[in-house]
Amino acid sequence: MNPFALQHDQNVLIAEQVRTDRLHLLFRQSVTAVVGSFIAACLLCWLCWERADQSVILLWISLLGGATLLRIGLFLAYFRSHERERIPNRWEGKYWITLVLSAGLWGLGALAVMPSDDLLAQAIVLLFTVGMAGSAVSCYSAYRSMTLSAMALVLLPCTLWLLFQPSAMQVGMAIAALLFSASIVRATRELSEALEKAFRLTHEMEHAHSIASYAAQTDELTGLKNRRAFFEHAQQLYSYCKRNQRPLCALVLDIDHFKRINDTYGHQAGDEVLRQIGAVIRASFRESDVYGRLGGEEFAVLLADTSMEAALRIAEQLGQSIAEMPLVLGNTQPQRMTASLGVASASAEDMDLHDLLNSADKAMYRAKALGRNQVVAAE
Ligand code: GH3
Ligand code: MG
Ligand code: MG
Repeated sequence: MNPFALQHDQNVLIAEQVRTDRLHLLFRQSVTAVVGSFIAACLLCWLCWERADQSVILLWISLLGGATLLRIGLFLAYFRSHERERIPNRWEGKYWITLVLSAGLWGLGALAVMPSDDLLAQAIVLLFTVGMAGSAVSCYSAYRSMTLSAMALVLLPCTLWLLFQPSAMQVGMAIAALLFSASIVRATRELSEALEKAFRLTHEMEHAHSIASYAAQTDELTGLKNRRAFFEHAQQLYSYCKRNQRPLCALVLDIDHFKRINDTYGHQAGDEVLRQIGAVIRASFRESDVYGRLGGEEFAVLLADTSMEAALRIAEQLGQSIAEMPLVLGNTQPQRMTASLGVASASAEDMDLHDLLNSADKAMYRAKALGRNQVVAAE
């Protein structure tokens, strides 16, 4: 595959994972904002109760109550949903709608309850909106656009109104509020970039780790387990079968006269034969078996829960599949390959994995000595 396309795919995947991380963080961070903003509104209403139009206060608090219920519903749906369903495309839009609704209601409501003739009450209302704008940073920092929108919707109605009042005090308060928010806006950029970087690095490291561990375990040519991974998994299976007194057999396979392929058709043709034999082996065994390439043109399989008779049958079948496999090498007629196989059973009490594989290996060499293309059972 084209390495640039692969790199591009990987970057797209990581970008999508980062977006999903942001969504998780957004929901986790903003749980308190949902109830907190309603409580703050109630407190403001209480402070302004004597000074503002009470019917406006009641209307505002009921609309805000409705918007809060909507948000609670959204959060419940999100946290009850399955991990797989928590994808940005499904939730971001809904989140935006409830956020704009409640932040917009907050900002406009604060302006509506702010008495036009009471400077102290105006200062209190402005203080609340600045506080709400500041807390938007801690609640929505996963999405800078949401932080900025929530801040603007909450803060701007009152601030702009004050900015155009005749009193210098009112204009001064509005300017101060704008200056505070300007410094918050700058901080949100750095916060957002740091979050993005942290999320991206985490996924890049996970990705690099999975590639490295796959490469360390896999034979590049055949895609089967390499020698190290084979012994690691084989030891686990061996111990399991021994502990549970399950029958276990080992099978060692070596391609016959493989050197001739290299000598006649070249090393690349030899590699192609190894790849094809690797594919036959992969297709011939179960998930519970352990198989890999030990090196060169030699492969080994550990068959769990398998008696010697069954293992011999399986080995015969594998030898036949290889012998019947047409190999197209260069421009010549399809070639045939054969293999010699040795099979041993782990029945003796004192045997360990290496003894078992040695027995199978010796049996395989006897198959070679007996004329190749056959299966021999260990003595
Ligand atoms: P026998 O039937 O006795 O097993 O004969 P053979 O030719 O198969 O065995 P021999 O051990 O003489 O030769 C094995 C050859 O396999 C020699 C080596 O160059 C080749 N070989 C080992 N690893 C690779 C590989 O990864 N790719 C290719 N193309 N050849 C390999
Ligand atoms: Mg060989
Ligand atoms: Mg060999």
